[in-house]
Amino acid sequence: MTYPVLPKPASDQMRVRPHIADIDLARQGFTWDAVAKELGWLPGGDLNKAYLCIDRHANGPLASKLAMIWEGKGGEEERYTFADLKAETNRIANALAQLGVKKGDRVFLFLDRVPELYFTFFAALKLGAVIGPLFSAFGPDPVRDRLQDSGAAVLVTQPDLLRKVEGILGDLPALKHIVVLRRNTAEQPVANRRCQDYAALVRGASSSFTIVPTSYDDFSVMHYTSGTTGKPKGAVHRHLAILQQYATGKWVLDLHPDDIYWCTADPGWVTGTSYGMLAPWSNGVTQVISQAGFSARGWYQTIQKHRVTVWYTAPTAIRMLMKAGEALPARHDLSSLRHICSVGEPLNPEAVMWGMKAFKQPIHDNWWQTETGAIMIANYASMPVRPGSMGKPLPGVEAAVVDAYGKTTTPGTEGDLALRPGWPSMFQTYWNNRPLYESRFRNGWYITGDRARMDTDGYFWFVGRSDDVINTAGHKVGPFEVESVLLEHPAVAEAAVIGKPDPLAMEIVKAFVALKDGYQPTDELRHSIMQHARARLQSIAPRELEFRPSLPKTRSGKIMRRLLKAQELGLPLGDTSTLEE
Ligand code: AMP
Repeated sequence: MTYPVLPKPASDQMRVRPHIADIDLARQGFTWDAVAKELGWLPGGDLNKAYLCIDRHANGPLASKLAMIWEGKGGEEERYTFADLKAETNRIANALAQLGVKKGDRVFLFLDRVPELYFTFFAALKLGAVIGPLFSAFGPDPVRDRLQDSGAAVLVTQPDLLRKVEGILGDLPALKHIVVLRRNTAEQPVANRRCQDYAALVRGASSSFTIVPTSYDDFSVMHYTSGTTGKPKGAVHRHLAILQQYATGKWVLDLHPDDIYWCTADPGWVTGTSYGMLAPWSNGVTQVISQAGFSARGWYQTIQKHRVTVWYTAPTAIRMLMKAGEALPARHDLSSLRHICSVGEPLNPEAVMWGMKAFKQPIHDNWWQTETGAIMIANYASMPVRPGSMGKPLPGVEAAVVDAYGKTTTPGTEGDLALRPGWPSMFQTYWNNRPLYESRFRNGWYITGDRARMDTDGYFWFVGRSDDVINTAGHKVGPFEVESVLLEHPAVAEAAVIGKPDPLAMEIVKAFVALKDGYQPTDELRHSIMQHARARLQSIAPRELEFRPSLPKTRSGKIMRRLLKAQELGLPLGDTSTLEE
């Protein structure tokens, strides 16, 4: 099926003039210096994300502007101005300094989406610490792997989440302090000699703090991301990334001073920090933060209640909204919405067309990944959207489709999506794994791990992943991480994990298991293995498990996930010459 190119919106139909009127023109002669100047940063001078997102506004005319409208799970609401954010972040920065947190220390957050998550994030940046947010739906194993690898000195968490991972604390000798936030004071404090009470720490702390000097090159945020082999790697970003997070907030999200912005991503994933914190606040924009999970009715109510104007969400959520039907959005007043963007997975053309019906406007797909730190390719507010395409590269970004030798291909040819290194928000290393970082470059290009095509007009089209990483509801799962846990079950001899296509979540995690001698493939055993995986992994545990007498392997003994996936999909098996038998 072919889809029409959606016309460029007429300027009189737009509520505000887009920051970029013509993307091809904007790319010509562009330099990042112009953005640096706009932010008031002098190249070579100190640069701190927390200063640019909070103190800069709190010290100026935006001090009393609303920065955060927080909606709790039970519908409760809290509001914070930029001045409030400055005071709150200063208090917790002073408290963390009292605990001995220094520049370069790793501070990890394992919290629900509560205001203190945001306070602590920026407080740690004010101290020059490197901040690592963790997804609160993780089980103990993913949390332990990330804290161990990063050598985190501090974990900020909540009693229920801490209880979930209590068993791993003995494996974390580098973890000096666990700061426990009890939003509900009826919650029992957790007894551990490393625990500190958040409220007690900030109670007496001063609301003034002098930001520890950080250079543009100092590390600021790390996010763990999955690959085909090995455990997840910590992609590390520096303070300079803010230039691109700010610029893409303007160009792609099209943020303007009067906007009420809502990003639905969790800060455990990079979209939730780059676009749920850094982009909107560096632009001085008011944002809604909702702690509640997905509910079609609840989401429409959030937009209606807060008069959300710019909305950044994900394809799985859009497909779930589509499933809930068109009558539901029609029953809400969504007239405030003026710009909608999506990221994390391919956005089906049908979803773009549905957006035209439900919201009377296209949904703008854009592409980036943890390693890029910010959006790289996008459909801009001012350009005609080609449904199914990720759009065009940003000013200051060179993207290409390259072959196995790193040579650019002709338009229309599928190849590796590659980026020319040097953009401000580019990751600087994988924590403790320089060789892997270096392996990601070929012939002067950073190779993204995605396959793509570019058309003759310079629009990029996503084809698929070149590795085995699973994309389930936009969350990337490394098969190795799941297989390692399955192999710990006493009955499991071999395990392989693939992404099985799913109409809503794009893929679900499916496991194939071969049993040790003496075990029978019963429903009871399946249940026991699935239970074991759920207890250890929670959100990334397999949703399906199939027993096989043995798993296909190469002659060198490597399990061929590709073959299992082809069998699952009923596709040709491809080259099987390296198969063991
Ligand atoms: P993450 O590092 O978790 O942010 O995941 C990044 C990966 O998500 C990319 O490498 C792609 O595989 C996928 N992805 C992100 N945005 C898009 C998009 N607009 N279209 C297709 N895939 C996407």
